[in-house]
Amino acid sequence: MRLFEEILDEVEQLATRVPPATLAQLLERRAAALPAGAPGRAAWFGHAGERYEMIGDLANARSCYEQAVEDGGGAFVDPRADLANVLLDLGETRRAEQLIDDLRNDSSEADVGEFLHERVGEILELHGRHEEALRWFDAGLVHAQREEPGALDLGCLNGRYRVRRVLGRPLDRLDRLCEHSRREYAADPEDEQRLLDVAGGSASTSRHTVLFWPQDEYPAVLSRWPHLTATLGGDHAEHRCRVEQRLRELAEHHEQLAVGKGRLVEYLAFTRERGAVETDPSTRGMYAAHLTFLNRVTEWPPAPDQPCWCDSNLPYRRCCGAAAPGP
Ligand SMILES: [Zn+2]
Repeated sequence: MRLFEEILDEVEQLATRVPPATLAQLLERRAAALPAGAPGRAAWFGHAGERYEMIGDLANARSCYEQAVEDGGGAFVDPRADLANVLLDLGETRRAEQLIDDLRNDSSEADVGEFLHERVGEILELHGRHEEALRWFDAGLVHAQREEPGALDLGCLNGRYRVRRVLGRPLDRLDRLCEHSRREYAADPEDEQRLLDVAGGSASTSRHTVLFWPQDEYPAVLSRWPHLTATLGGDHAEHRCRVEQRLRELAEHHEQLAVGKGRLVEYLAFTRERGAVETDPSTRGMYAAHLTFLNRVTEWPPAPDQPCWCDSNLPYRRCCGAAAPGP
């Protein structure tokens, strides 16, 4: 693993100095200059493939991954996984499935590397193959246990959680464990205590999401919780102002902010499933964290000319970004 870390460092150094397209070519030449089977050759081809992928050049990405696979040398993750990913993008499903089957067969042996299950699971998830992704994440958890009793593969635990939500599975013990082990923090506008907790902690590394109820949800929200009118805002315009204001306050201390759009029916199911109190601010915080984790949030602030986060179809500068919102 030491060699792979050195290679990764070098790639990251180069990335700060040369443009992306040049970098991909440079890495490919670097790999090709090594004799077949030399230590690190497959890893260099793998990085070249990744950089080609980042600039959307799938043909060259594929060619680099093919060469990494052919080389047979080691890498952080078996290059057949990256090759399968590109092949799925290119619509070459049959071959991709064959590679994934091969990986599954080989993964029953011990020395498969610590990130393989997570990576293949993510690739399948990314391509909407949630059932298969779930099997890989489950297998990754079993694998980690076998390697070291009591060990928990957090990548697979998180992936398992994500795809199980998409598949509509009920929360189980591992899902609950996942929710408790998360670092992501999200703040409901009026969850003051948690805001204070975070302000004293490692705030700069965490992402904060403020919960926002879209316009078509808002009447139902207010009629369910009339006592929250004062905190959420008496009408939707006021609610938008409150959310924008809270985001600006948070921006003084935190770098990554986002807006999570709540859906009342989903929220109520969320609270029932967790036995949480629906009117408790910390439950809204948990729900905002949940939206963050599932990547269902909008980054804040948008650029001045970008559509506003509140779905008004106005540019941010002419909507919630316009003036200092009132107190
Ligand atoms: Zn707006």
